[in-house]
Amino acid sequence: MKVPLLDLNAQYKDILNDIKKAMDRVFTTHHYILGEQVAELEKKIAYYCHCQYAVGCASGSDALMLSLKALDIGIGDEVITTPFTFFATAGTIHHIGAKPVFVDIKEDTFNIDTDKIQEKITEKTKAIMPVHLFGQPAEMDKIMEIANEYNLKVIEDNAQGIGTKYKDKTAGTIGDIGTLSFFPSKNLGAMGDGGMCLTNNKELAEKLKRLRVHGSTSQYKHKWVGYNSRLDTLQAAVLLVKLQYLDNWSQGRRDNADYYNEQLKNVPQVITPKISDKCTSIYNQYTLRVQNRDGLLKHLRNNNIGCAIYYPLPLHLQECFAYLGGKEGDYPVAEKSSKEVISIPIYAELTKEQQDYIIEKIKGFYV
Ligand SMILES: *Cc1c(COP(=O)(O)O)cnc(C)c1O
Repeated sequence: MKVPLLDLNAQYKDILNDIKKAMDRVFTTHHYILGEQVAELEKKIAYYCHCQYAVGCASGSDALMLSLKALDIGIGDEVITTPFTFFATAGTIHHIGAKPVFVDIKEDTFNIDTDKIQEKITEKTKAIMPVHLFGQPAEMDKIMEIANEYNLKVIEDNAQGIGTKYKDKTAGTIGDIGTLSFFPSKNLGAMGDGGMCLTNNKELAEKLKRLRVHGSTSQYKHKWVGYNSRLDTLQAAVLLVKLQYLDNWSQGRRDNADYYNEQLKNVPQVITPKISDKCTSIYNQYTLRVQNRDGLLKHLRNNNIGCAIYYPLPLHLQECFAYLGGKEGDYPVAEKSSKEVISIPIYAELTKEQQDYIIEKIKGFYV
């Protein structure tokens, strides 16, 4: 049997015709950038995420850049974030001229350890950028409490968590701005790049809309120096079709996770993901902590099971961030995680037979 990490063929099989029709409608207007489907998608995503405003842009990375820029964060500022995340989180902080300041993660959830944030706050700290890793929100109550106390902005990197809940709130709508990514492997993936910023602040929404078109307030008048970061109409048309299925897909992932959790709970070498009772997860990834990780990775791949390591090298140990002075031992939980994690197939279309095959191969490896 062959099980890919993500099977986009299975995902698109039943909806490709609807997507083609939706794309055809764009070809009748030839309005390829920020067309009417973009405005419609922004409205529907805002509704889906229970927030006031959503502003589409070119990628999840750009959504972070635009958010930092909209909040006037730049040269000389410090932004607190996690070293255990996709590169873009810290990359965008660097690009805006600010300094990424890392805080270690919690072992059970892989999210930023809120007990360790305060000790990293300095006079230069302007914002906290938590990541809702693998689809589970970070400890937002505590983060907002610290942000209020020290007058910091909060940007939620919600690239992996569209629609996921923290208590009765939707992730990405709790801080000043939350971001989304429509990279094809995210729970709501486009047929290319795309991203979005979420906010309940009208002024910020207006500013984000300007910043994505070079900061112009009217044609050829520029209040800010912005970017070219717009969402394509074709991508919005695709996403409007797919958004209708998102709840089902995320539920399918949760059901698959429940099954793995149950079947793997008695394997002593494997720790299944822990979801806090304050949260839900949309399981953008289903990530185990295991003994002899590299051996298991090889074993599963040899058995045609797609799996991946998110993330093999914490950001403080990346060559490009050597200037920050990070070294081995600085963030021990992130470092330990990078050696123990393995993500296995979790997509909604996964069949029971495929799951049983994966479970059998994991158990087989440890006997
Ligand atoms: C995917 C991702 C991004 C970047 O999104 P792109 O659309 O690929 O630019 C940022 N942060 C996290 C945590 C991500 O998973």
